[in-house]
Amino acid sequence: MKSFQLTRVDNVRRATELASTQPDGISQASPTRFLAGGTTLLDLMKLDVEQPEQVIDIHRLPLAQVVATEDGGVLIGATVRNADLANHPLIKARYAVLSQALLSGASAQLRNMATTGGNLMQRTRCVYFRDVTSPCNKRSPGSGCPAIGGYNRNLAVLGTSDQCIATNPSDMNVALSALDATIHVESSRGKRSIAIDDFFLLPGDTPHRENVLASGELITHVTLPRPTPGNRSVYLKLRDRASYEFALASAAVVATVSAGRIEYIRVALGGVGVKPWRSREAEAILLGQAPGAAVFRTAAEAAVQSARPQSMNGFKIELAKRCIEHTLELSTQATQAA
Ligand SMILES: Cc1cc2nc3c(=O)[nH]c(=O)nc-3n(C[C@H](O)[C@H](O)[C@H](O)COP(=O)(O)OP(=O)(O)OC[C@H]3O[C@@H](n4cnc5c(N)ncnc54)[C@H](O)[C@@H]3O)c2cc1C
Ligand code: SF4
Repeated sequence: MKSFQLTRVDNVRRATELASTQPDGISQASPTRFLAGGTTLLDLMKLDVEQPEQVIDIHRLPLAQVVATEDGGVLIGATVRNADLANHPLIKARYAVLSQALLSGASAQLRNMATTGGNLMQRTRCVYFRDVTSPCNKRSPGSGCPAIGGYNRNLAVLGTSDQCIATNPSDMNVALSALDATIHVESSRGKRSIAIDDFFLLPGDTPHRENVLASGELITHVTLPRPTPGNRSVYLKLRDRASYEFALASAAVVATVSAGRIEYIRVALGGVGVKPWRSREAEAILLGQAPGAAVFRTAAEAAVQSARPQSMNGFKIELAKRCIEHTLELSTQATQAA
């Protein structure tokens, strides 16, 4: 691990001032990183994948609150721990899909440390990315992508490019996508808000740029809109073992069924996309329909229509379809029973 300067801050202004020289996006060469729970960053620093010259410890910032907003939604501070968020009464009662997604991730110890901001920014688990002796376009732009034609069993089938096929590994991000979250950021230049759909970037020719965060921007909080009346939401995660494992395929569904028809629907996928994958194709097929196996299958087919399998991960396409179908079944059954 390279030596670095650690600064602890207790207010947002000081954090953004210190970070104001950070170049856009995330790259190995970037000199500054925020340290929240440290469950991703410290691992990557020990592996020399991340080599920040400056680390700003933000865990003491006053951003650890979960509060109801006046418009009926909720505000989640960036340093709220994953365990606290998952178990918060407001989240459990009104945004069950988020609680379920968080509780399906990592382990109890990790969830006690990991934060909302850090989870949003966690990096891929592609084995080549984490091994500095391998080429990797994401870690070292232009060096190549050994995962294409190499070990790619756990990598993406949706949104990939010839430069990178890495998945976004987060469970939380999939639920936030189905919940239409907005991410609020601040820097020495001011504040802005970004819809989650616009936050993550496709790899294209620049896989080292994973999101739209600009130089020195700190995530301060996430907001969720008021839940639609009568909705039920479900997160289903399929993986090689029942705990302490990333998703091979997952689905987050928020649904309202009224008078026998699906009147509100959000479908997002994890484990199969280069970013949390909102499926508007599936939503368009489901909206206005009576819930049932046939329409669920058609929606699932539509969700993965553009999938591009690699040498080892073609099984994910059928797995994702079954995951979507089962999640739709659970969420619409629950709604109708309500
Ligand atoms: C063994 C293991 C298993 C895991 N399993 C799962 C799993 O099944 N599902 C899952 O979803 N996750 C899993 N994770 C990942 C875990 O959820 C993340 O490591 C965690 O959410 C990161 O949060 P953190 O606060 O520790 O981030 P840190 O490690 O502190 O930071 C991560 C990144 O986010 C940046 N950052 C942090 N806060 C901010 C902010 N406010 N603004 C801007 N940038 C910020 C940091 O600079 C850094 O680049 C696993 C991790 C491990 C180690
Ligand atoms: S898939 Fe992406 S992260 Fe993995 S080796 Fe290729 S470029 Fe690197």
